[in-house]
Amino acid sequence: MAGFDYDIGIIGGGAAGLTVAAGASQLGAKTLLVEREEQLGGDCLHFGCVPSKTLIKTAKVYHLMKHAEHYGLPRVEVTPVDFGQISNRIRSVIEVIQKHDSEERFCGLGAKVQFGQAEFSDEHAVRLDGRSISAKKWVIATGSSAAVPPIKGLDRTPFITNREIFYLERRPASMIILGAGPIGTEMSQAFARIGTQVTVVDMGHQILPKEDRDLADAVQKTLEAEGVRFYLNSTIEEVNDLGHAREVRFRTADRQSQRLSTETILVALGRKSNIDGLGLDRAGVECDRRGIKVDERQRTSRKHIFAAGDVTGGYQFTHAAGYMGGIVVSNAVFHLPRKANFTWLPWCTYTDPPLASIGMNEKAAKAAGIDYDLWTEEFQGNDRSLAEGEGAGKIKMLLNSDGKPIGVQILGSNAGDLLAEWVAVLNGKVKLATLAAAVHPYPTLAEINKRVAGNFFSEKIFSEKVRKGLKFIFQFKGRACTLPE
Ligand SMILES: Cc1cc2nc3c(=O)[nH]c(=O)nc-3n(C[C@H](O)[C@H](O)[C@H](O)COP(=O)(O)OP(=O)(O)OC[C@H]3O[C@@H](n4cnc5c(N)ncnc54)[C@H](O)[C@@H]3O)c2cc1C
Repeated sequence: MAGFDYDIGIIGGGAAGLTVAAGASQLGAKTLLVEREEQLGGDCLHFGCVPSKTLIKTAKVYHLMKHAEHYGLPRVEVTPVDFGQISNRIRSVIEVIQKHDSEERFCGLGAKVQFGQAEFSDEHAVRLDGRSISAKKWVIATGSSAAVPPIKGLDRTPFITNREIFYLERRPASMIILGAGPIGTEMSQAFARIGTQVTVVDMGHQILPKEDRDLADAVQKTLEAEGVRFYLNSTIEEVNDLGHAREVRFRTADRQSQRLSTETILVALGRKSNIDGLGLDRAGVECDRRGIKVDERQRTSRKHIFAAGDVTGGYQFTHAAGYMGGIVVSNAVFHLPRKANFTWLPWCTYTDPPLASIGMNEKAAKAAGIDYDLWTEEFQGNDRSLAEGEGAGKIKMLLNSDGKPIGVQILGSNAGDLLAEWVAVLNGKVKLATLAAAVHPYPTLAEINKRVAGNFFSEKIFSEKVRKGLKFIFQFKGRACTLPE
């Protein structure tokens, strides 16, 4: 390794970078981890998953308090929320998790952490605080930021993104959210629940564009019932700063021009890979419009430079970033040619009820020209969800022509956790019959997984053909009771 300061250098201390740093250092590689913020953890910990899920829980508790009578409890007169207190709770949750992602922990594992903005000076060295640091291999794990499209007037109008939204000093009375993807949708419900008047504007014809239309529409209906206003098929034309308020002008589906004023604008119009200022041209690393181009082994156009996580513009989830980080460790440290495979990459949008998905949904199967059979089961038929007062939603299971599952979507209480069983079934190639026969504890929401698998078999088992066969063999006498016509 003579000639290089480190065996491996990692730029970015988020989910992807931390995974590589932990793996590489524990395997004995001399590891450097560079982070430009003051603390490790990346977007997920500071501006993404952790603060959003903390806020979502707080908003749910407040929502339940307001609807206490639905649970046979006395009506509660709730006072308005103090967003400062909510932000404090968010900070306190982050603080606990921060310990797992601390400089001390990584030093303990053997990785050197340096804070500062790294920039390639050539294909083996970066400049950091005026110093040059070299490594035999590099990993770019610089994540993504909110994309801010060139909407007329946006450069002159105050707005917030995921970086500011969790740290507001007070709850905005009103908010227009530009974008109905997962972030915009989750935030629309959370803020509506804590008393903000929320409007969502999006050019698409449905919210959560990757999801099946029926499930996305069901989420939208729930949110509308909670007071969120949606303007879909609407093109944002201009935003203005009115001084006392902000104004959003857009053209609606029926070509009408609309002007709405609001206290706060949240821009949630997708993500942009963090590649600016990295000096990628000096390292010879190629990008496309999504981000850094990588092959299946997470190698960039320079084979000793890897990229992982949001910066590659693929699946932008923490667990995807961690998975890609693991692929990098296999290839860069173990020298095992392991390829990334996203076939069974699950995800979940944490609305209430949440919407989780793995494998193909109807939309993806149709686009790929794959024939499928659809099996569904409603949460209304699940005893536990009724007891919980969470009877909305359903599970959809897609089977291919061989009767093998190719995808599952769950809209319902705890959908993300319920999907974990399918993660095991699909990755472990477990037979559907095994899932249908496996005893699940009663009463649990997870019984819905067994039920939907069982539906596929019960149609065959309780068929007229089987009934006739058994009658013939065992001389069964048939029905003991028949409902009147
Ligand atoms: C509001 C919101 C909610 C989300 N909720 C979920 C969720 O529920 N579940 C989920 O799976 N995903 C969620 N995500 C997505 C998730 O946060 C990202 O997919 C994940 O953080 C990506 O990890 P990463 O390591 O690629 O990037 P990041 O976590 O962004 O880490 C990249 C790091 O690189 C640093 N960096 C950048 N450039 C440089 C440089 N030149 N030098 C040094 N350091 C640099 C950055 O400061 C950052 O710390 C959410 C995102 C948002 C915005």
